[in-house]
Amino acid sequence: MFNEHTPIILYIEDNQDNRKLVQKVLTAAGFEIHAVPDGPSGLSFVDDKTPDLVLMDIGMPHMDGYEATKLLRRKQGMADIPIIALTAHAMKGDEEKSLDAGCNGYIRKPINIDRFPSEVLFFLNRARTPAKSKFNLEVGGS
Ligand code: MN
Repeated sequence: MFNEHTPIILYIEDNQDNRKLVQKVLTAAGFEIHAVPDGPSGLSFVDDKTPDLVLMDIGMPHMDGYEATKLLRRKQGMADIPIIALTAHAMKGDEEKSLDAGCNGYIRKPINIDRFPSEVLFFLNRARTPAKSKFNLEVGGS
């Protein structure tokens, strides 16, 4: 399904139902997904393993997605890893704030489960030049 290794996705999200849904959808699409419930868990995850992409919930208690993004960027190997915000409200302010915090893009919630894998793939590939594009995914359309 993918040209090289299975893309590793780190998903930081406080809502358990969202974690389960995204885990299910991305696993079915062939990604390796690690869902963690808060920013600090995401920060310790990258001490052990560098993901290919991070999905970052914005609305979380104690440490929100903006702060977690800023801290993730300072971690070893994380400067150029795509971090994609999941914005709960289609509010321009949230989206701009997430980009200011160091995110590379955003996907609006609620996610569309049919489109979500290809949206994630778009951001994975956009992080590379077309010639270096690492991942391909055939997403069946109807
Ligand atoms: Mn949340």
